[in-house]
Amino acid sequence: MYAEDKHTKKKLVVLGGGLSGIGAAILGKAKGMDVFLSDKGELSEQSRKELMEHDIPYEEKLHTFDKILQADEVVKSPGIPYTAPLVVELLKNNIPVISEIEFAARYTNAKTICITGSNGKTTTSTLLHHILKSAGLNVGLAGNVGSSFAKQVAEEQHDYYVLELSSFQLEAMTEFRADYAVVLNITPDHLDRYAYQMQNYVDAKMRILNNQTADNAFIYWANDPLIVREIEKMKPLAHLIPFAQAKADGICAYEKDAHIYIQSNNSTFRMKQDQLALQGTHNLYNSMAAGLVSKLLDISDDTLRESLTNFQGVPHRLEKVATVRGVLYVNDSKATNVNSCWYALQSMKSKVVLILGGTDKGNDYKEIEQLVKEKVRALIFLGKDNSALHAFFDGMVPLILDADSMQMAVDLAYDVAQKGDVVLLSPSCASFDLFKNYEDRGDQFKECVRDL
Ligand code: ADP
Repeated sequence: MYAEDKHTKKKLVVLGGGLSGIGAAILGKAKGMDVFLSDKGELSEQSRKELMEHDIPYEEKLHTFDKILQADEVVKSPGIPYTAPLVVELLKNNIPVISEIEFAARYTNAKTICITGSNGKTTTSTLLHHILKSAGLNVGLAGNVGSSFAKQVAEEQHDYYVLELSSFQLEAMTEFRADYAVVLNITPDHLDRYAYQMQNYVDAKMRILNNQTADNAFIYWANDPLIVREIEKMKPLAHLIPFAQAKADGICAYEKDAHIYIQSNNSTFRMKQDQLALQGTHNLYNSMAAGLVSKLLDISDDTLRESLTNFQGVPHRLEKVATVRGVLYVNDSKATNVNSCWYALQSMKSKVVLILGGTDKGNDYKEIEQLVKEKVRALIFLGKDNSALHAFFDGMVPLILDADSMQMAVDLAYDVAQKGDVVLLSPSCASFDLFKNYEDRGDQFKECVRDL
């Protein structure tokens, strides 16, 4: 129930009781609002505990429309689309529906560094957070990674935040402004949530530029034709800081002679690629993006070099698990779209037994066709429904096998891999058909590999 003094207190309804929802509810409560949380699914034990600890009323396994429609403002979880009947109803009633990021940003003066893209967000955000922390800055990591932004704003005092933002979060932002915005790349993903219209997805990503002024910076990958096209259309006010594969006019970071170069004001930072903790072409770009922001924040060359070298990496992203009988097993479970699988395959130097499959999000496998033909010894399809994979790949590689569990997939891979090969789990699909999430999929893979 809402509190007695409902005429004076702002009524905040939070939809979704995951990390971001719980954080928003805690912040709303800390700011003296009348908070109510509603989740159509079941809450975790931890979520219930936190709500009770903060004395926040909630409901689960249902949405009571009447009650929710009394809200002055609603914070929705990124997992709930704008097309959900409840959200449609709220908007019809002119009740603003915003993201946790938009909400939390109102209550902090910290500088925000926002990172989006189809791939590399978590890697780059975590890497940048590591660099800034190593430099002694008081910096939080939030958004899609780390703990909730709103919760950190309520309970911690950071001067900087590195925020990993998905297109779903960006959709629900209106007045938020990123002091530093980074767009790593835009390739098809989540098209099922965008009526299979790529432009809708691109528009959501580019919202990261909203409200930026000439005092802000926009860092982006200049080899991405979509990003470049959008910039020409949108003519951002922010200071443009592009990175690219090769040096060219205006390019601020690039690679040359096995080094990366990062330019800032009048100096150039140069570092050998083989000293970077993160290997693979895609990670060069991630390192450049993180390096550019670091230089804008006046991080010293020494700290930058050291942090780019000693970064530990992020689990489930091209994570080396073990070598068994001369075969290396690599867990890239976070490769939930085709483009990330392309980068994984591209960085492999030997023959690959590729495990892929899961929940298809409107995938076009053409992008990996060439690399599959060149590098793949066998394909193992791991999904409830492998028909789309068969339709595309049948006849393309000598051996194609089906598995309906991770154990079976790893056993099959073990049987067909030859000494010197890599067994790569890089599914190109979401995991929800057979697993709780991509972490569960990656953890099961690691467990099966360790039991070999
Ligand atoms: P995100 O948070 O955007 O999903 P991650 O850092 O979790 O990105 O990486 C997801 C997948 O994409 C992994 O398989 C990783 O190896 C791959 N990847 C990482 N950086 C890039 C990049 N810049 N371009 C393409 N793929 C990438």
